[in-house]
Amino acid sequence: LKCLYPDTAWQQVREAIEQATSIHLIAHVCPDLDTIGSQLALYHVLKGMGKTVWMHNTDPAPRICHYLPASECITYGEMPQEIQADLLIAVDAGSLGRLGMTEHYFKDKTLMNIDHHASNTLYGDINIVDARYCATGAMIYDLIQHLKQPLNAASAAAIYAAVLTDTASFRLSTVSADVHRMVAELIDAGTDVAVAAKAIYQSHHKERFHLLSHALKTMILQNNGQTAWIAVDYDAYQKHHMSGEDTEGFIDYARSIDGVAIAVFMRESNNNEWKISLRGEAPYSVGELAGQLGGGGHQYAAGCTLLGSFEQVKKQVETVIESHLDQ
Ligand code: 5GP
Ligand code: MN
Repeated sequence: LKCLYPDTAWQQVREAIEQATSIHLIAHVCPDLDTIGSQLALYHVLKGMGKTVWMHNTDPAPRICHYLPASECITYGEMPQEIQADLLIAVDAGSLGRLGMTEHYFKDKTLMNIDHHASNTLYGDINIVDARYCATGAMIYDLIQHLKQPLNAASAAAIYAAVLTDTASFRLSTVSADVHRMVAELIDAGTDVAVAAKAIYQSHHKERFHLLSHALKTMILQNNGQTAWIAVDYDAYQKHHMSGEDTEGFIDYARSIDGVAIAVFMRESNNNEWKISLRGEAPYSVGELAGQLGGGGHQYAAGCTLLGSFEQVKKQVETVIESHLDQ
C-alpha cells in the first residue's frame, strides 16, 4: 500500500491510539456514508489491534450502510452507560456541534478530530484535518498504514463506500490518480464494487420516487438560470412515509441543469426547521456561503440548518447567494 498524502502528520494520532485501551468512535449527525464508512473502517482496525471499541452516534445510520460488516454494532441516541472510553475519535465532523452530543460528554476526555473539511474548527485535543483528501475514509486508508495494520476486506469495503459517495461516484476534482490507485487496493483487499453499487444506488423504496416527483415539481430557476431550487416540506415527508435519507441525491437534479452555478435543496426536517444543502461550481464557494448561514462544508458541497417558514428561510439563503453572484 501507498499513502495518498505521505506528508500528513499522523504521529500524535498513532501514539494516542496505541496508548488507548478503550475507544469511542463518533460519526456526525444525519450521518452519510463517509462518516459511517470511516467509523466502521476504524472499528475493524482498532478491534484488530485488541482495543475495546464502541460506535455510538446521535442519529441512526442510514439504511444503505447495512450491507457493511459491523454496521449492526452502531448504536445511536442517548449515551449508553457502558461506554467508558479513554479516547474519543470523531470522524468527518467539521465542528463539535456536528456531533450532536452535549459538551459535558467531552469533559475530561481526549477527543481526536479526523476530518477533511476545510471549515473544520479544530475542536479536538488532537486534530488531523486535511482538506486535500477526497473523503475522511481516504484519511483512514492512510492512517491504517501509519498504524502498520493490514487492510482487511471489512475495512476496505467501508473505505470504498466512503470514497465512492463523497466523490459523487468519482466525479469530483478531488479524484486523483492516487485515489484510483487506492481503490485498486481496496478491490484487491476484497471490496465487491457491484455489491456496494446495489446497496447504495439500487435499493431505494418506491415511495422515494413519489417524493421525487413531488420535489421536481417545486423546482424553480432564478438569477438568469444561475440558481436552481428544490424543496421538500415536512408534510410531504410524512405523507410518503419518508425521512431525510430518502431524499439523498435530489439536489443532483438541480445541479445537473446547464447554466446552473448554485443548486439549493431545502428539506424541512421538522416543522419550521430546514436542512439546506448547497452545491456549487467554480468560481462560487458554497462552503463560504454555508458558513455565513451558520453551517459549513466543502467548496462545492455544503449545508446548514435554518429555522423559520419556507419563505423566511428561502429569503435568507437567497440574500446570501445573491451577494456572492454579484461579486
Ligand atoms: P449534504 O448537503 O450532503 O447534507 O452536505 C454537504 C456537505 O456539507 C457535507 O460535507 C456536510 O458535512 C456539510 N454540511 C451539511 N450540513 C451542514 C451543517 O449544518 N453544518 C456544517 N458545518 N456542515 C454541514
Ligand atoms: Mn466527508
